[in-house]
Amino acid sequence: MKRTVLALQPLLTHEMDVLEQGFNVLRLWESQKPESVIRDHSHEIVGILSTYNGSGVSKRLMEALPNLEIIAQFGVGYDNIDLVAAQERDIVVTNTPDVLTDDTADVALFLMLNVARRAVEADMFVRVGRWHSGAMPLSTSISGKTVGIVGLGSIGQAIAQRAAAFNTKVIYHSRTKKDAVYTYYKDLKEMAVAADFLILACAGGDETKHLINYEILDALGAEGFLINIARGSVVKEDDLLIALRNKSIAGAGLDVYADEPNVPEEMIKMDNVVLSPHVGSATVETRSKMGQLVIDNLTAHFDGQPLLTPIKMAS
Ligand code: NAP
Repeated sequence: MKRTVLALQPLLTHEMDVLEQGFNVLRLWESQKPESVIRDHSHEIVGILSTYNGSGVSKRLMEALPNLEIIAQFGVGYDNIDLVAAQERDIVVTNTPDVLTDDTADVALFLMLNVARRAVEADMFVRVGRWHSGAMPLSTSISGKTVGIVGLGSIGQAIAQRAAAFNTKVIYHSRTKKDAVYTYYKDLKEMAVAADFLILACAGGDETKHLINYEILDALGAEGFLINIARGSVVKEDDLLIALRNKSIAGAGLDVYADEPNVPEEMIKMDNVVLSPHVGSATVETRSKMGQLVIDNLTAHFDGQPLLTPIKMAS
C-alpha cells in the first residue's frame, strides 16, 4: 500500500506525477477545508512535503500527526519548520541544498547589476520615450568596488565567484572563518564600512533576525548598496526604509521581504530600489531538480536507505 504524504504546496507537473506514482498525496493547497483533511487523515500521514514559502510546519501541525516520520522541505532554507519540535519527536527533516545555488547566486548578481547600473530605469527610459528629451542620468560602476558577503555558504561562495569575475574585491562575514581566499571580517559593522555592496546570503531564522539594522546600513554609507537574497527577516525593514528614504544608503536590490508577498507601499514607489518576488530558485530547471530531490529523500527514508540531504539537528 502507498504511504500517505501531506503536500502543502505542489511540485512541478512532472515531479508531482512521479511523487503520486510512489505515494498517496494529499493536495492540501487545493482543499477548501485543510483542517478537515488533516483531521480525517491524521493517522495515515507519515510524511510532509513543505515549501520555503508555504504556511510552515509548526509544532501544532506535528502534534496533529502522530505517525509523522519525515518532513521533506522544497527549498534550502528551513526557517519555516519548528526543528526543535521535530527533534523532540525524532521526525527527520530534509531540504534541497546545492541544486539551487547557481540560480540564486545569479539573482544576487542581477539585483546588484540592476540597482547600480539603473537597468530597470534604463528600460523604462527607452520605452516611455524620455530618451528623445536627453540622456539618462549616470549610474554607478561595479568594477573596482568591494563586495561584502554576509554568509559565505554554498550560495555566498557562488556569489563571490561571480562578483570576482566582475573585477570586484570580495570580502565576507559569517560566524566562522572559512577556508577561502577572501578577506574575513569577524565584525559585521567593520565589513559594512569596507563594502560598497553588502550582499546577504546567510541562513534565516532567529539567529540572523534583524542582523541588518540602521547601524549597519549607516556603516554601509551613502554610496553603498544592500542586496538581499537570504530572507526578509535578516533585515529590519523599517530601518531599511528610513535609510533609503534619507539616502543614508544609495539603494537596495531585494528578492526577499519581511512579510511576503507584501512589500511596503513606500518601497514600491522608491526609485533607488530594484525588487524581485523571491525568485532565487525560480527556474524550470532548478525547480525540477528540487522536486526530484524531495522525492528521492522521501523514497530513501521509506526504503530504509540513507537520506540524501538531511538537516543536521542540534546535538
Ligand atoms: P548554507 O550553505 O548553509 O550557508 C549559510 C551560511 O550562512 C553559512 O555560511 C553560515 O556560516 C552563514 N550564517 C549562518 N548564521 C549566520 C549568522 N548569524 N551570521 C552570519 N552568517 C551566518 O546555505 P545556502 O545554500 O548558501 O543558502 C543560504 C540561504 O539563502 C538559505 O538559508 C535561504 O534562506 C536563502 N535562499 C534564498 C533563496 C531565494 O530564492 N532568494 C533561494 C535559496 C536560498 P556560519 O555558520 O559560519 O555563520
